[in-house]
Amino acid sequence: MRPLKRFSALQPYQPGKPIEEVKRELGLSSVIKMASNENPLGPSPKAAAAARKAIAGVHRYPEGSAHALRQALSKTWGLDGGHFILGDGSNEVLIFAAQAFVSEGDAIAFSDRSFAVYELASHLCGARIRKVASPEFVHDLDALARAAKGAKVVYVCNPNNPTGSHHPPAAIQRFLNAVPKETLVVLDEAYAEYAGHSMAQDKLWLKKYPNLLICRTFSKLYGLAGLRVGYGVASAAVIQNLEKCRQPFNLNSVGQKAAAAALSDHAFARKTLALNRQGLTKISSFFKKEGIWFIPSKTNFIFFREPKPGTYQALLKQGVIIRPFGDGHLRVTTGTLAENDRFIRTLKRILA
Ligand code: PMP
Repeated sequence: MRPLKRFSALQPYQPGKPIEEVKRELGLSSVIKMASNENPLGPSPKAAAAARKAIAGVHRYPEGSAHALRQALSKTWGLDGGHFILGDGSNEVLIFAAQAFVSEGDAIAFSDRSFAVYELASHLCGARIRKVASPEFVHDLDALARAAKGAKVVYVCNPNNPTGSHHPPAAIQRFLNAVPKETLVVLDEAYAEYAGHSMAQDKLWLKKYPNLLICRTFSKLYGLAGLRVGYGVASAAVIQNLEKCRQPFNLNSVGQKAAAAALSDHAFARKTLALNRQGLTKISSFFKKEGIWFIPSKTNFIFFREPKPGTYQALLKQGVIIRPFGDGHLRVTTGTLAENDRFIRTLKRILA
């Protein structure tokens, strides 16, 4: 048995460290996780109730078409159900895009310092990777559009993970105009709600650009990361191709029900956004006061420069998990008010 040659340089995806693992390894009783851009409030209560109810039916296979969730999305977006593909997290939809449209040796373009799954998806289908430099940690959309020429897929993350940088609609529109119609543009909007992106704008783009796939997730604002539900919206023709990559029961039945309920939990969404704004303000003010370089964020996390070597490990030892990027940069997800305070208190101690 010989592994594929193109996988030799590929590192498996490294998620943020789980709380239980850190407790076990460091012998700590109290650990907080501000590492994976999850919702610190827990799941949407409406979603949690729907999930509990759905447990009674888990001896059955889920509905492959995710009918109820598709209908809920269709109503929310004001688009026909044929414009949606559901995924086991939006990660899966990002991978479908490569599987459906890219053959071995074809090119895929994306920015450096962007979401790790674009690289994984490219390796999975043996694509040639065109990674475009992002000076000052912001996508160079002109260079990315040039790299997209002749590529089968271009991924663009807005707002971007892990940097939190953000392009306004006019810049995305210019980018969409510049990319050839033969290239599929995957616009990853996992953090769209935090940046206040409107579905109306997305819909205008979807109508104008038949080569556009927009991906969104239930893992962040709706607090359902553990149930793995994400989706893509695109022209019916693009969706039909993506559907060919989808396994019959990719979306579990509990996730389907929970996500459909979460979509109508506007109170929870408002509460999440308000808490996030408080967290961003609090942590950014602290960084400013301490002279710590960071990127102003339109997401639920902040990318910052390590203020002192070993900061990540020092925080970890004191029970605060954030995310390291191995090049002197770190990312912290906003938490509850108490978690934000603990992060700031602990970092202050480390810097003292
Ligand atoms: N895109 C981006 C930019 C993300 O940060 C994430 C989650 N970390 C995802 C997609 C995937 O989210 P999920 O698979 O949980 O829907």
